Amino acid sequence: MTATAEQTGPDPATAFTELYGGEPHGVWAAPGRVNLIGEYTDFNDGFVLPLALPHTARAAVSPRTDGVLRLHSSDVPGGVVSLRVDALAPRSGHGWAAYPAGVVWALREAGHPVTGADIALTSTVPTGAGLSSSAALETVTALALNDLFQLGLTGPELAVIGRRAENAFVGVPCGIMDQMASACCTEGHALHLDTRDLTLRQVPFDLAAQGLTLLAVDTRVKHALGDGAYAERRAGCEEGARLLGIPTLRDLPYEDLGAALTTLADAGADESVIRYVRHVVGDNRRVEQVIALLDAGDARGAGPVLDEGHRSLRDDLRVSCPELDLAVAAARGAGALGARMTGGGFGGSAVVLAEAAGADAVAEAVTKAIAGAGHAAPGIFTAVPSAGARRLR
Ligand code: ADP
Ligand code: MG
Repeated sequence: MTATAEQTGPDPATAFTELYGGEPHGVWAAPGRVNLIGEYTDFNDGFVLPLALPHTARAAVSPRTDGVLRLHSSDVPGGVVSLRVDALAPRSGHGWAAYPAGVVWALREAGHPVTGADIALTSTVPTGAGLSSSAALETVTALALNDLFQLGLTGPELAVIGRRAENAFVGVPCGIMDQMASACCTEGHALHLDTRDLTLRQVPFDLAAQGLTLLAVDTRVKHALGDGAYAERRAGCEEGARLLGIPTLRDLPYEDLGAALTTLADAGADESVIRYVRHVVGDNRRVEQVIALLDAGDARGAGPVLDEGHRSLRDDLRVSCPELDLAVAAARGAGALGARMTGGGFGGSAVVLAEAAGADAVAEAVTKAIAGAGHAAPGIFTAVPSAGARRLR
């Protein structure tokens, strides 16, 4: 296991100077995240409970006044991408650079006077692992431009800009959780986010004080059916709400779930819609259960709720995969308190809650089980609840 409290990586300011000359006006950081519980709830106006990782995207940035936007990432091959801010158009390609360029586009669309920038990026957030490397990139860009152009936007407002960049400019239909986590999380806390109105609360999550460790297991697999499946789940949830005559599944209290499932069956709803409704309403409740446990200083008690969440994602929403199921089962078999896949599924990562004293043994057991099944070796690290986006210098 690579236990990592701090994840820094190369200095983007050095890259900035090499690429553009001179010193950047500043350096900013924004983290990736894991979601503790509340999956596929954020497009149903529901609850999520993510925490920021020690892994961050960092940006060294200077503003420009001539309409030129120059972008570079040390983590991908290829040189500087040079664009004009007044020619940015949604879904016009640009590969990875669409994420930061989309932020510039979304800011300008919202009427903010962003007149260009030189941006050098570097990131320690594993990409495509369900840990929100894309939101980290968007958030660090949005925060840097907010500071440099004195836009006065709040964390949630920056998250909305980042989401719009990803939805409309890049063309990925994600919810608001990832950007909100990257922008608004704080050290030692999980973020209780109500995705209906973006109200949030920092929930104390001091794992070390309770003798606990949260592991993130990156399976390093990404199954291709993920994209279509996300859209299908989303449509199924909307269909469920429509048949129940409510605006979104958030409006169905857990107490009424049983009756609602009967109503759906009577209305001839597809069997999959019934499963999706059960998952979403159940996961909203699980978020509330975990929060009550954390508030009571009983993080240990969250273990079985995480297990239940995984079963629901596997059997009702059906977004897990053999590698994730294996990681979760191996972790539990080695004494973990609870484990679940996190993020969109079909690969990506799992979170594992373990006694700190037993965490290494759990990590070893997961690695061994995954190797034994012939899958690629996972990346496993400790997910210390870390700070959200901030200016470094
Ligand atoms: P996730 O957000 O879960 O890591 P996504 O598929 O949403 O996965 O985003 C991954 C994409 O974000 C990458 O394919 C790349 O285009 C972009 N990206 C993330 N980090 C970087 C980086 N450090 N440099 C360049 N592009 C990045
Ligand atoms: Mg992403």
